[in-house]
Amino acid sequence: MNWTVASDIDGTLTGDRGALDRLALRLRQSRALGDLCLILSTGRRLEQVVQGMADEGLPEPDYVMCQVGTEIYQSPLHEASEALPAWREKLLAQYSRQEARRFLTGIEGLVMQPDIFNTELKTSCFLDQCPEPETAAAEIGRRVAPYSDRYQVIWSSGRDLDILPADSGKGKAIRFLIEQEGLEDEPVVVAGDTGNDIAMFEEFERGVVVANAKPELVEQARALKDSDVYYAQQPFAGGVEEGLEHFGVLRQSTGPV
Ligand SMILES: [Mg+2]
Repeated sequence: MNWTVASDIDGTLTGDRGALDRLALRLRQSRALGDLCLILSTGRRLEQVVQGMADEGLPEPDYVMCQVGTEIYQSPLHEASEALPAWREKLLAQYSRQEARRFLTGIEGLVMQPDIFNTELKTSCFLDQCPEPETAAAEIGRRVAPYSDRYQVIWSSGRDLDILPADSGKGKAIRFLIEQEGLEDEPVVVAGDTGNDIAMFEEFERGVVVANAKPELVEQARALKDSDVYYAQQPFAGGVEEGLEHFGVLRQSTGPV
């Protein structure tokens, strides 16, 4: 069977280099056999993904969703790869960065993220210096709510808040790509560790939550109906490997690979 695996990077694949090396080898073997389409779905910029493939042992993917699902890139990846124009244009039609920026005015302690994480389709800040980060996030959520046909708020790790186009995010970006590439018949497994990954679990039935996941993801995943979520015993890439064996994407290992 052909599977599509969509995984977050930081804290899901990274965190235990030995485990990642083992998983990456098995994913590479499956891809070489044509059994697997691998998607990495991340808050990182493309350059950081390309760098991670060289320095951190990230497996080579077929596609990468960068900047929390606002940019889609197809392999082979290099730093100058162009984001998929159809996705970019679809999102630009509903998003005004200027308007998104206004939802953040006057929030005490809010710090904008570096310019490289603020793009024409993503407005991102840190709330961990706010007196009460949760309250600040809730206030921004209230401001954006009347415009939910065009914007969404992603709150993650008690620190990162993104205002994205309503139709973007990790889950919808993967769905768009699957439809675009005609992969609808292939079963999908997603994997993640924090709040911005819930969009993948909402969009697809099967998911792997690694043992080191933040409570925000565990709570939201447990609340999903009609979902088949596997809560791994192991953290990081070891947990992803365990989950992929559980769903039959990877065969149960019978010993050292
Ligand atoms: Mg993560």
